[in-house]
Amino acid sequence: MGDERRRYLIQQMELGGSEVVLDRGAAPRAAAPAPTPESPAQAAPKWKKGAPPIPGPGLTIEPPAPTLLAGDPLADLESLEAVAERIRASECCALCANRTNAVPGEGNPHAGLVFVGEGPGATEDATGRPFVGQAGKLLDDIIAAIELRREDVYITNVVKCRPPQNRTPLPDEIAACMPFLRRQLALLKPKVIVALGATAAAALLDTRKSLGDLRGKVHSYGGIPLVVTYHPAALLRNPNWKKPAWDDVRIARQLLDR
Ligand code: URA
Repeated sequence: MGDERRRYLIQQMELGGSEVVLDRGAAPRAAAPAPTPESPAQAAPKWKKGAPPIPGPGLTIEPPAPTLLAGDPLADLESLEAVAERIRASECCALCANRTNAVPGEGNPHAGLVFVGEGPGATEDATGRPFVGQAGKLLDDIIAAIELRREDVYITNVVKCRPPQNRTPLPDEIAACMPFLRRQLALLKPKVIVALGATAAAALLDTRKSLGDLRGKVHSYGGIPLVVTYHPAALLRNPNWKKPAWDDVRIARQLLDR
């Protein structure tokens, strides 16, 4: 069995999944039985087994409407690539001076689901791509566990340049970079946003409430349902949070299917 497959199966077990295919290279599997009224062709997806119901509403935030008249310098950017180019050229805060690469974000421009993290780490700074280090591998596993591919979603961060020693971005750094994230979300118009960790949740919802207060509700970002969960790096430090995080992403997955 390949390493990736093994890692996926271990993650499935840890996240409470019910993956039962143990080896793709093993003997061919029996053909699926013909659907009957008792066993309809469309079986419920595995991630849905034991998923919590969609919770009630939380905070509502209306992001500022982007208008050139109001002096928004990003309002003329009509594509994600144009936003990315502007980010790469930007010197909007002190973080820009020390970057190797800006990390604008990547993924499907028609994604229904968008993940927003805190800011690039060392591997992201070196490559210019979001969530490609250790935390990124876990995020990939989480995406796979809800039966999506990384190419199906869009992944970005609150700040687009790496803070020194991976510290939490400062309020003025977040304020300087938020217009890029707002423009990305305005162009993407996803069905669901997942805020990964307290920094993303606080920046998107403009709140000082704790992660504990913000989890378990469906917030509204300009009418888009927003779910808050733990940052993957936090899950690596504290595996006890994997189960609640698994519930959070399954809420997001249900909102995507709605
Ligand atoms: N952590 C983040 O918040 N974002 C990344 O892109 C990588 C790690």
